[in-house]
Amino acid sequence: MRLRLDQELFAGLIPLHILHHAGEKPIYGLWIIEELARHGYHLSAGTLYPMLHRLEKRGLLRSKKEPAGQSARRVYAITPNGRRTLVEAKEKVKELFRELFESELHRVFGSAKHAKRAMANGRNKNIDQPSKTRKRPR
Ligand SMILES: [Zn+2]
Repeated sequence: MRLRLDQELFAGLIPLHILHHAGEKPIYGLWIIEELARHGYHLSAGTLYPMLHRLEKRGLLRSKKEPAGQSARRVYAITPNGRRTLVEAKEKVKELFRELFESELHRVFGSAKHAKRAMANGRNKNIDQPSKTRKRPR
């Protein structure tokens, strides 16, 4: 697992990620492992399944067995309680995101007012270029 020392720091992100996807469609263990790996979180089944079990025990997910080929697999979906928790968590992440990237957003867009205008006009494509050297459209 790549996380190790940072495990504690990232520990909350993984259940949040799982809740997010379980809110879009029912998901199963192997799918989650592959999805998380895509984001750089390498989780073993031995870590994931107890986590899914805890989320289910807390009433954030519910599961049922579904036939898959010759055998069956356990499929997880978000519960109404899980959805409420996800909404709350997203608000907190949004607030944290703003704070973490405040200086970058400020550097790129200048004032918040300017940022809003730039986003509304879809003119944020040249954000890597400082505005002074940006060429005028012909
Ligand atoms: Zn994802």
